[in-house]
Amino acid sequence: MLKKIKKLLLLGIKILSSLVAIVFLLLISDTEYINSSLVVPPTDIAPVHSFNKSEDSLRYDFLLERFGENKVIPEDFKLQALVALSYYPVLKETPIEFVLTDADASLTSSINPATLIFPWMKKTYVIYIDTLKTIGFTSPTLLKNLPYNAQIGVLGHELAHTVSYLDKSAIELAWSGILYVSSEQYVVNFENETEKRTIQYGLGYQLLSWSEFQYNIKLQEGKGAYYFAPEKIKTLMGKYLFYQKQ
Ligand SMILES: [Zn+2]
Repeated sequence: MLKKIKKLLLLGIKILSSLVAIVFLLLISDTEYINSSLVVPPTDIAPVHSFNKSEDSLRYDFLLERFGENKVIPEDFKLQALVALSYYPVLKETPIEFVLTDADASLTSSINPATLIFPWMKKTYVIYIDTLKTIGFTSPTLLKNLPYNAQIGVLGHELAHTVSYLDKSAIELAWSGILYVSSEQYVVNFENETEKRTIQYGLGYQLLSWSEFQYNIKLQEGKGAYYFAPEKIKTLMGKYLFYQKQ
């Protein structure tokens, strides 16, 4: 009996290590990532203090044609997502799916795991939008409960994550995922860099609107270090000439 269990255990270990080796080989075979020098903000950034939903709806068709390629977006947030996407021309052809979920994770930006592992599949990025908060005091931060301008801000933050994935190989992305779930300091740096990138790409006012609305709630959640306080966002915006022109 013991011998049988030992044999089965050894077989299990062999199968598991073979699987890990296969996944590793697949991950290092990835060549679908772009040169870092191509992941730069556009040169003609025109920040907007506050977007107006009815004004934006008049240019919906233009936005959809220009920035809607390879994007799957739920109807309720389509306009907001397209406005945010218009600040990231580098994502113009990138496949991105915005998915409604009740995972209790606000918004998260990730990659379809199959398209990450199999190098012959085109990478598809996924932005999960939480629709249900189980902790009562955080429910105002749900995308559907935010003001329009702040919705664009948080979607811009998620797209800034996606931008940072473009020049990473599959193995680097997998490693980043492991660090994200195992190191608090990594998460802080990762989120702070994303906040900076959102400002750098021209959505500073929208990020500010989001921050003014949700920063205190994030502090209560113990996530204050991940995101920037309104004052910090204003200071960083001051470094860019295009915000001063407004
Ligand atoms: Zn984030």
